[in-house]
Amino acid sequence: MKSNTFDTIVVGAGMSGGWAAKEFSEQGFKTLLLERGPNVEHLKDYPTTNMQPWEFKHRGRLTAQDIKDNPIASRCYAFREDAKHFFVKDNEHPYVQKKPFDWLRGYQVGGKSIMWARQVQRWSKYDFEGPARDGFAVDWPIRYDDLAPWYTYVEQFVGVSGNKDGLDTLPDGDFLKPWESNIVEDYFSTEIFTIHEKIINPRSYKRMTNYSKSSYQDSQIN
Ligand SMILES: Cc1cc2nc3c(=O)[nH]c(=O)nc-3n(C[C@H](O)[C@H](O)[C@H](O)COP(=O)(O)OP(=O)(O)OC[C@H]3O[C@@H](n4cnc5c(N)ncnc54)[C@H](O)[C@@H]3O)c2cc1C
Repeated sequence: MKSNTFDTIVVGAGMSGGWAAKEFSEQGFKTLLLERGPNVEHLKDYPTTNMQPWEFKHRGRLTAQDIKDNPIASRCYAFREDAKHFFVKDNEHPYVQKKPFDWLRGYQVGGKSIMWARQVQRWSKYDFEGPARDGFAVDWPIRYDDLAPWYTYVEQFVGVSGNKDGLDTLPDGDFLKPWESNIVEDYFSTEIFTIHEKIINPRSYKRMTNYSKSSYQDSQIN
């Protein structure tokens, strides 16, 4: 029997394994990526994506049986009629919980990247300092500045849209152009901005009276 050898074997083709395999192979390592679940082919394997709510038997909602069979998974907002086929079913893969722990799993190529919500905010320096500052869990061995170039590295590959808001609690990334806000989002951010200036930062409220929506938006897209 011909035997195969590899420099690297990665188990699991979720985001972590997929990225690791990409890096290893790009560096010239002969890499084997093992995945327990089926392949998910773009478009062909998204049978519900273009369906309207009324085209689902239960209008997108779960049945009583779904909830009974999946007491854990059904607590996830995304475990609905349109996406539940990507989730591991509780009764098929039960696990022991010493303390309550909701374990949401997706056994397929892509793992949970097939089910996620696509929010990719960077952690801030405050998040990395949290355990040491507030005395819980284990201190992170790295800080935000150590990771910042790697956030950039990933963002440049995957493409992340967003405003550069200059907040130290939510650091700016290497963003693509932000998506346009809808009218409700515009109204909401204007109101929050006004309240912030008026209540939290009253000394600069005077400046705000000259505020115009377009000048605010101009400052957002950079
Ligand atoms: C509904 C939902 C929304 C989310 N939204 C966000 C979000 O907006 N932003 C965010 O940052 N994160 C979000 N997350 C979390 C994010 O999706 C996960 O943290 C991330 O996808 C985990 O990637 P992973 O590669 O570490 O693990 P997984 O995606 O779980 O990948 C593990 C892979 O290993 C495979 N595997 C398991 N056991 C074996 C085995 N024995 N042999 C071979 N293969 C095996 C699995 O099939 C799977 O493909 C969300 C998660 C869910 C469920």
